[in-house]
Amino acid sequence: ELVGKAIRENNLNRVVVAACSPLMHETTFRKVCMLSGLNQYLFQMANIREQCSWVTEDPELATIKAKAIISGAVSKARYLEPLNIKEVKINPTILVIGGGIAGIQAALECAEAGNKVILVEKTPSIGGHMAQFDKTFPTLDCSACILTPKMTAAGQHTNIRLMTYSEVKEIKGYVGNFKVKILEKAKYVDHNKCTGCGVCMEKCPYKAPNEFEEGLALRKAIYIPFPQAVPNKPVIDKNICVYFKTGKCRACEKFCEPKAINFEDTDREIEVDVGAIIVATGYDLLDPREIKQLGYKRYDNVYTGLEFERINNASGPTAGKIQLKDGRTPRSIAILHCIGSRDKNYYEYCSRVCCMYALKYAHLIKEKIEADVFNCYIDMRCFGKGYEEFYHRLTEEGVDFIRGKAVSVLDYNDAKILYPEMLEALGFTDSEEDKKKLFVRTEDTLLKKTMWLPVDMVILCNAITPRHDAKELSRLLNVSIGKDGFFLEKHPKLAPVSTATDGIFLAGACQGPKDIPDSVAQASAAAAAAISLVQRNKVVIESATAFIFEELCSGCKLCNDICPFSAITFDEANNKSQVNDALCKGCGTCVSTCPSSAIKALHFTDKQIFAEIEGLLNL
Ligand code: FAD
Ligand code: SF4
Ligand code: SF4
Ligand code: SF4
Repeated sequence: ELVGKAIRENNLNRVVVAACSPLMHETTFRKVCMLSGLNQYLFQMANIREQCSWVTEDPELATIKAKAIISGAVSKARYLEPLNIKEVKINPTILVIGGGIAGIQAALECAEAGNKVILVEKTPSIGGHMAQFDKTFPTLDCSACILTPKMTAAGQHTNIRLMTYSEVKEIKGYVGNFKVKILEKAKYVDHNKCTGCGVCMEKCPYKAPNEFEEGLALRKAIYIPFPQAVPNKPVIDKNICVYFKTGKCRACEKFCEPKAINFEDTDREIEVDVGAIIVATGYDLLDPREIKQLGYKRYDNVYTGLEFERINNASGPTAGKIQLKDGRTPRSIAILHCIGSRDKNYYEYCSRVCCMYALKYAHLIKEKIEADVFNCYIDMRCFGKGYEEFYHRLTEEGVDFIRGKAVSVLDYNDAKILYPEMLEALGFTDSEEDKKKLFVRTEDTLLKKTMWLPVDMVILCNAITPRHDAKELSRLLNVSIGKDGFFLEKHPKLAPVSTATDGIFLAGACQGPKDIPDSVAQASAAAAAAISLVQRNKVVIESATAFIFEELCSGCKLCNDICPFSAITFDEANNKSQVNDALCKGCGTCVSTCPSSAIKALHFTDKQIFAEIEGLLNL
């Protein structure tokens, strides 16, 4: 109010505010100028907090420095020029990449708000990891019962265009106006004709490891990934189908009544225009083979958490029976926490969900079979609503909690070679029963000792990791990846669903390990941000952009590749480079690169910068 009043009463033509970082309040003061009749670009901020008082220990030196910064800002302000406000129209369609619970939730929220949504999923069905679970912590709801209705709703919503078996290949444009190329992989089944009867799958004679069952079962070359899949129609896996290898078979085609099989199908590239993008591509898991001493894939009955989800699932490879590879019921199971998480050699962060799913497994095991269950943990991280209560419930269900990190797993043969004295001390005598045991070496920080646990089955809570292709997607999206490898939000506290690229938002575990409630909450928040953006119809874009003087441009193209926002294109007809104002962030990288000095950064012209430097020096 004071600044506005001063502008109006004194007919001011420049304003300089010496305070904090422009990131905090430049917008506030620019708005004051605008409302008081002064062009907002005639305002200059001098940062004497982050760049001065917070980083200069000696108060006297800090005062001298603050004066110099202000002098520079005042000096620059003399050469500031008014710039026009630029607006671009916004396309109301929203693209959601990834069809796990986060992507489904975001797509449904956007569609319910009346926006057209394109939901792109890489695999043949939406559902993501949640579709693989039996029960979900801490309420132990049946995962399929709460997920399937949402999957079906997304599949049937008139505002959602579902593109499964598809991948984003190119993203061009800017906030409000993205042009996206999507590759729809050939399914070799015409889903418009297919009735989903499944006869083709019955007749197909060829099998491959089933990804949905974590390789614990087989599926056919023509397959629907799981019974509740959306869409519930098959695709042919070209790498397994023998017709594509030898030209023989076509059994599926022969038995398909509606003539839905189409071996001539090809990959299709589809271009779509969207105004906002929500990234919900989820996570991968550490392959425990990386930690050799755990014996994963070397010994039978050492499983990952996700494998156990399938073993315990009524529709899984053992029809929900908790059993060992040879069909016996395990009488003792060790669940090892923090496998590759909270470990400087692998992933330094906490994976956040494994303590809770470890408790979930302990409960489900106790419910189904008579077995001793040992949870080897470093800390029990039960942070969510109802989580601590779930932990306490488990302590009353007879589960053993051993506070300490499990370091290795051995089978009987290896234990006999490496630690014969341990076997002897534990009373093992080479009986057939003994030879089937696994031995977990773990610390117990409460008893201050290392010990061996003989068990029948081991479940590894392996780290949640960034997706293997996250870097590739980050390049397409122009969204940064954090130190941990997950997509980076604009601000960890104040803008946790936005990214530094306007119009692109994050949802779910692609931003960092997250449980289902947090993934859903973040997806709703990302949807709200995207809806509020596209429903504005127009968006104001930065006016302080780069500008190319055509007459000076030599057409060398150096600036084209250097621009981190891909904002410069080349006009072949004129042999000149051009800046796309909507993409340019005014970073100035191109200005310093151009050998012909043909590029001017508006609001940061040479004249303005030299004046600022002189102001600093001439205090
Ligand atoms: P995801 O489930 O990983 O889904 C991402 C989707 O995006 C996938 O469908 C994937 O195919 C697709 N995709 C990836 N890249 C692309 C691309 N480039 N283009 C198009 N599509 C792409 N949480 C709970 O709250 N309760 C539990 O009981 C529970 N149990 C768990 C048990 C285990 C063993 C594990 C590992 C986790 C468990 N979780 C649990 C956590 C839960 O899995 C996550 O919170 C949830 O899956 C995150 O959802 P999401 O949609 O972000 O990611
Ligand atoms: Fe679809 Fe034909 Fe297979 Fe039936 S047999 S599921 S109609 S492709
Ligand atoms: Fe299976 Fe391929 Fe034969 Fe069809 S042609 S039945 S998909 S192997
Ligand atoms: Fe370890 Fe996972 Fe628990 Fe974190 S949540 S402490 S990584 S088991």
